Amino acid sequence: MAKLYFRYGAMNSGKSTSMLQAAYNYEERGHQVLLAKPSVDTKGDRGILSRLGVTRGVDFLLTPDTDAYALFQQHRADTLAGTGLDVSALLVDEAQFLTETQVDDLLRIAIIENIPVLAYGIRTDFQTVAFPGSRRLLEVSHSLEELKTICRCGRKAVFNGRKVDGAFVFDGDQVAIDGVEVTYESLCGSCYLEESHGVLNNRRREPAERGRSIDVDPHEANPPIESAPACPPASSPSIP
Ligand SMILES: [Zn+2]
Repeated sequence: MAKLYFRYGAMNSGKSTSMLQAAYNYEERGHQVLLAKPSVDTKGDRGILSRLGVTRGVDFLLTPDTDAYALFQQHRADTLAGTGLDVSALLVDEAQFLTETQVDDLLRIAIIENIPVLAYGIRTDFQTVAFPGSRRLLEVSHSLEELKTICRCGRKAVFNGRKVDGAFVFDGDQVAIDGVEVTYESLCGSCYLEESHGVLNNRRREPAERGRSIDVDPHEANPPIESAPACPPASSPSIP
């Protein structure tokens, strides 16, 4: 039986690079793979862009209404007809934007069709809340692997801070609206709490609680950088 793999990390942890490397590894050995990603906007962006500059188009996009199982089977049949080879793996980028139903379809593809599915995505949004697709992947995947990146302080980054016009914000929609100048910075827990003044999970807090800061220095309760667990250098890409 094949497995569903979820490889997750903060932003800039090399997920797309890792996925394109995995695709390359399959193809180098003469295997066929299919690449897919959710389509969360109307721009119809079909590309996968890694930070190392490698780009590649996906074989199919998944809108929220897409039957992922059926669409995979259709492209699998096309691949077999075109190359004479069955698909060896399905790779999914930006998997945090899948619906829960689509994640369940990925699990069925792995179990019923016996095709390994490798999903790559961000675990939590800028308010430290799991994306629906990521939550479901954390629930049902056979294998979880964290792809690591480094916070500005040298600790492992686990959260994604959102910046608007260069300033951190902790309120807003899970997916930033087009047209607003939004950037993200991968942060460790300490630096996130420092920037948010102790606030976590802002969207789920009672309105009266929102914005109320907690008077602690998050760094006090944490080891200094020198004794923090070692992380791989940011320049070394994660190899699947
Ligand atoms: Zn930090």
